[in-house]
Amino acid sequence: MGQSNFETKAVRTQSERTHMKEHSVPLYLTSSFCYDSAEEMRATFNGEIDRNIYSRFSNPNTNEFVEKMCVLEEAEIGVATASGMAAIFASFAALLSAGDHLLVSRSIFGSIHSLILNDLTRFGIEYTYVDVDKPERWEAEIKKNTKMLFIETPSNPGLDIIDLEWAANLAEAHGLILNVDNCFATPYLQQPIKYGAHISVHSATKFIDGQGRVMGGVVLGNEDLIEEVYMFCRRTGPTMSAFNAWLLSKSLETLAVRMDRHCSNALKLAKILEAHPEIESVKYPGLKSHPQFEIAQRQMRLGGGVVTFTVKGGLERGVKLLDNLEMCSLTANLGDTRTIATHPASTTHSKLTEEERAAVGISAGLIRISVGLEDIIDIIKDIEMALDKSK
Ligand SMILES: *Cc1c(COP(=O)(O)O)cnc(C)c1O
Repeated sequence: MGQSNFETKAVRTQSERTHMKEHSVPLYLTSSFCYDSAEEMRATFNGEIDRNIYSRFSNPNTNEFVEKMCVLEEAEIGVATASGMAAIFASFAALLSAGDHLLVSRSIFGSIHSLILNDLTRFGIEYTYVDVDKPERWEAEIKKNTKMLFIETPSNPGLDIIDLEWAANLAEAHGLILNVDNCFATPYLQQPIKYGAHISVHSATKFIDGQGRVMGGVVLGNEDLIEEVYMFCRRTGPTMSAFNAWLLSKSLETLAVRMDRHCSNALKLAKILEAHPEIESVKYPGLKSHPQFEIAQRQMRLGGGVVTFTVKGGLERGVKLLDNLEMCSLTANLGDTRTIATHPASTTHSKLTEEERAAVGISAGLIRISVGLEDIIDIIKDIEMALDKSK
């Protein structure tokens, strides 16, 4: 469309207007689409005419959401799914077969860890975990049957950063598919495909919706790979609902302004916490103290909306702190307008052993804050008050 700015593309990319000339794209709640003749129906089913057939395959609303995500992330094509996990599972199940080996960063979201352990192994897919802080060891773990490298950057909740250009070169040298979970960054902060990733997956539930309303996911990438993911989804049915796609498409219009504020609030909070005498450690990709600060500066526009910290006094004090928060919500989601506090060791990563948690940087007392869009003064006040009361 000739407009180069991210914000303009996010606001102005939309499907063609109907004869009603509506300004805002309507919601298409229809399971299937009609034909004027048996011949037109035959030709559409045969792929000779490019039209919607059935909403498990495609729908004007999911098409629009996917097209927008592709424009924003500079991907060729994409598939929208019912959740982030459905997107990740589809990217594994469509492209890996029994006997294949998956190389995977140890710093990944808890449910992905469970998916690999409980399900991929049942289908005969082997895996090896590699450590984010020892990239020099990754190459030695690549086997003859290694097919995919899966990474998450920044990771949830470890906030570890992996050099995308380096990972893409490693994948290229060994003929692997580089699959990147870009959920924490969103296309506004980071575009993995530009660095050479073959696939970028998202949980749209988080910052893309940004308002804690609906579940969604998307798989983006090159046409040859994503066509296989699309056909897998078309056959198996983890499709995004038209309603969710309609909402998520609208959410993308405000992604840039929301992310700017999430990130500036998060940086302010991280700096205050780092200087606080009751705080043991703070991790945020936008702080100079972050171990991969330089990489984050290179590949991310800003540091993201999530900050983690450990309070002096360990688990017991951390739990007390959560109980004393008045404004911040205790809930499982992140990337909401509302600030959210969680304790990963007892919730999202409770299925891992203590050693496994330690390996991905989750200490017993670690608190994860998804910094919202409230006035930063009120966010800081609430956390400082809870810190005081938890003494
Ligand atoms: C939440 C999350 C997922 C899973 O997404 P759902 O929409 O909850 O299925 C995957 N990766 C990361 C990094 C996440 O934070």
